Amino acid sequence: MKAYIGLGSNLADPQAQLQRAITELAQLPQSQLLAQSSLYRSAPMGPQDQPDYLNAVVALETALPPLALLAELQTVEAAHQRVRGERWGPRTLDLDLLLYADRTIDLPALTVPHPGLYERNFVLYPLAEIAPGLEIPGLGVLGELLARCERGSLVVIEKNQSDTA
Ligand code: ATP
Ligand code: MG
Ligand code: MG
Repeated sequence: MKAYIGLGSNLADPQAQLQRAITELAQLPQSQLLAQSSLYRSAPMGPQDQPDYLNAVVALETALPPLALLAELQTVEAAHQRVRGERWGPRTLDLDLLLYADRTIDLPALTVPHPGLYERNFVLYPLAEIAPGLEIPGLGVLGELLARCERGSLVVIEKNQSDTA
């Protein structure tokens, strides 16, 4: 199954956090890294008294079922000393399961497509980089969501050069 993961960090050397996290995602059981976006910088959502975020999106090919994949993502977050404080507060690493194949999932612990996906520039722009033309269950084609989402202050800070993207 193809899964897309959104990464975010705004504490403790965010660029290193994201790079390490991508390596760790590539090593998840029954999974392979298919593609990674550039790294982006975005303004914080929610509380404004926190540093800007760095974001990226990766594509995985995985045989893990959705809840097992979510558990793996949470293990990686914990390994990055993720501490849960106020909603949308600063964090060393956030790993959100954006999409899982063409599935729609509505469980207490897991909503897929990720509920913020359709309106977040820091998700849609990196996603479009690695999956142009993607069809998003219940939401339509990625290009249409992108057309309705302002780029705002989002900037590429490290362009992905790898030919996996
Ligand atoms: P947001 O989800 O709005 O981006 P957040 O990433 O800061 O906010 P977290 O604190 O990382 O939120 O996650 C809170 C809970 O969200 C987790 O315990 C998890 O069970 C649940 N959750 C539901 N759907 C998803 C998903 N698609 N990806 C990751 N976590 C999810
Ligand atoms: Mg999040
Ligand atoms: Mg999260």
